[in-house]
Amino acid sequence: MILVYINTLNGIGKSSYEAVTYAKKMGDSVVVLTNGNEEESNLSSLGDYGAEKVMIHREITSFESGQICDLISKVAEQHGINTIVFSHDHVSKAVAPMLSTRLSAGLVPGAISLPDSNGHIDVNVFSGKAIAKVAINSDKKIISLLPNSIPLEKNETTCVVEELSLDICEAKIKLLSKKELEGDIPLPEAELVVSAGRGLKGPENWGMVEDLAKTMGAATACSRPVSDIGWRPHHEHVGQTGIAIRPNLYIAAGISGAIQHLAGVNGSKVIVVINTDPEAPFFKAADYGIIGDAFEVLPK
Ligand code: FAD
Repeated sequence: MILVYINTLNGIGKSSYEAVTYAKKMGDSVVVLTNGNEEESNLSSLGDYGAEKVMIHREITSFESGQICDLISKVAEQHGINTIVFSHDHVSKAVAPMLSTRLSAGLVPGAISLPDSNGHIDVNVFSGKAIAKVAINSDKKIISLLPNSIPLEKNETTCVVEELSLDICEAKIKLLSKKELEGDIPLPEAELVVSAGRGLKGPENWGMVEDLAKTMGAATACSRPVSDIGWRPHHEHVGQTGIAIRPNLYIAAGISGAIQHLAGVNGSKVIVVINTDPEAPFFKAADYGIIGDAFEVLPK
């Protein structure tokens, strides 16, 4: 049995279905563990991708890595589970290393492939500049899957939802306030992204980026200087020091394509670059390039 931990505190996102798809394709039965207040009818939708059971612990209602680690390790020990799958997000980045220590489990963070016939897994390293192949030698294994690495695959399964009652350790941190980010589509999960850089000259010109994103159902992103200057919020900053994304389509307007920017977007399946400078480095990484003024091209 494979245990998939998913974070449902903000609903069930595409990356959760991907993690279930991934676990199902490993060939064993799949049980999902979560916490929070998600409704039973939404939880059972995980059965569409192969989950046989969803266990929910309703007492942990905020992100507290120590409690979530305690919950997962107790469930894993109770059920004799050797393989745990996460989506590679802020929860797994905090919880998986703790869990790995607690269970003496080998950890592969940021997997982009299923284990091959030798059990070897491909992992993005050096900000996506290279792919490493790794093997887990321990019996217990923890894998976190990079969003948008594998296609979703339906696998209609009857899924029961079980309310879990377990004593969990005290929370060591307390959530004091929460500010919802703008934008309907979370950037790490977006399949389509429209991004812009300093070539747009000022924040007042982002309307055309937002209009295009809205028309396409895309998320918006930006280069680092744009968020540093305060033209756009920091959560839109992609790159080495921002979010790393792997959308199906990344449209970059007025972005030069510095190596630090590419580090966060070069996992995109198709890159379209719009830039007035034919020598802009981004064209070397682009699948399609438009040499032109973003102010004319984007509205078109
Ligand atoms: P610029 O370099 O100023 O490029 C603007 C581009 O717009 C130019 O290519 C220009 O030809 C084009 N342009 C101008 N006008 C138009 C127009 N009207 N229409 C179309 N094109 C036009 N950057 C990141 O993005 N993400 C990171 O995570 C990141 N991390 C970094 C970490 C470190 C340690 C360092 C040192 C730097 C980092 N940077 C990062 C900064 C990075 O090196 C670049 O400076 C930055 O990406 C440049 O942003 P830009 O392309 O928006 O601006």
